[in-house]
Amino acid sequence: MNRTALVTGITGQDGGYLAKLLLGKGYRVFGLMERSTRYAFANLDYLGITGEVDYLDGDMTDEASLVQALRQARPDEIYNLAAQSFVGTSWRQPIVSTEVNAVGVLRLLDAMRHFVPAARFYQASTSEMFGNSHEDGLQTENTPFHPRSPYAIAKLYAYWIVNNYKESYGLFCANGILFNHESPIRGREFVTRKITDAVARIKHGLLDRLGLGNLDSERDWGFAGDYVDAMWRMLQQEQPGNYIISTGETHSIREFLSMAFAHAGIDDWEKYVYIDPAHKRPAELHSLRGKSDKARKELGWKPQVSFEELVRMMVDADLERVAKEKAAK
Ligand code: NAP
Repeated sequence: MNRTALVTGITGQDGGYLAKLLLGKGYRVFGLMERSTRYAFANLDYLGITGEVDYLDGDMTDEASLVQALRQARPDEIYNLAAQSFVGTSWRQPIVSTEVNAVGVLRLLDAMRHFVPAARFYQASTSEMFGNSHEDGLQTENTPFHPRSPYAIAKLYAYWIVNNYKESYGLFCANGILFNHESPIRGREFVTRKITDAVARIKHGLLDRLGLGNLDSERDWGFAGDYVDAMWRMLQQEQPGNYIISTGETHSIREFLSMAFAHAGIDDWEKYVYIDPAHKRPAELHSLRGKSDKARKELGWKPQVSFEELVRMMVDADLERVAKEKAAK
């Protein structure tokens, strides 16, 4: 019998890639969608699956809509990807970020407990929960958390309430502690996409310069398409667990810039980039590098796309998009 999944955050980067993966496996996919003034289907259109998802109205701040969505979808698996997902915005809107990323998760979990207790629950946890905490330069499932933004603190609440509902009520709940993952449909406020979008616009003569924050920050960047596969694998285990998902490699923003500009045929990237103090955050994270041995062993998961391939994929997609937009003007 085909299984049914409910994906919150369906219009986001991961929601799109996950829906595509689940549809390919024969799932019926329900996507929870908040009322949005933006063009909601851009990512799903890019992935070619807009017409294959069943959409349900709902908002993580509105409990009744979550109950209604669960009653309608009766999902076997729930993937909670909805979030105010940008760390920078969480400093400016800490309460909304907490309502959605922390209390929203409790609302959904509690609704699951009452209406679909046999369902399996995936929570989109994040490496941001570690802050600058590490063991020999790496983060594992046992590294102490020390969140350094309202975003990360809300996500840490969600992480613990998910564990608590698993232990208290015997629900099948898993936390994926995902390190940064990107793609051609990454939100344009995130540094990787900001760079590839700017590279494309500079190449096409539509932009002169790009302002960024700390170029020495290092991140462990993977491809979103690989990471959603890990989410699915977590819900296929006999026992629920928490897993780090990462590549184990770090690269600086400087490296990302140099590779992205070079791929577009522009060698002297320093000429186009300046440091904009407006991008500085009240508390910075310097380096994140995850050790995903547990996932590799228990889930049989490993990343397929390299850092270089990821940068090239994003630059190529933005070059093509900007060329089309320019031609349409
Ligand atoms: P994203 O592209 O920003 O997508 C977030 C989604 O959540 C969007 O569909 C958004 O809808 C929806 N959403 C926001 N507020 C909502 C609300 N009140 N009710 C219902 N839906 C709401 O994020 P992503 O990159 O796909 O990430 C997916 C999840 O993984 C997020 O929880 C994120 O925090 C987490 N995560 C991401 C990364 C990463 O590197 N990408 C790493 C670790 C964890 P609108 O488009 O309508 O706003």
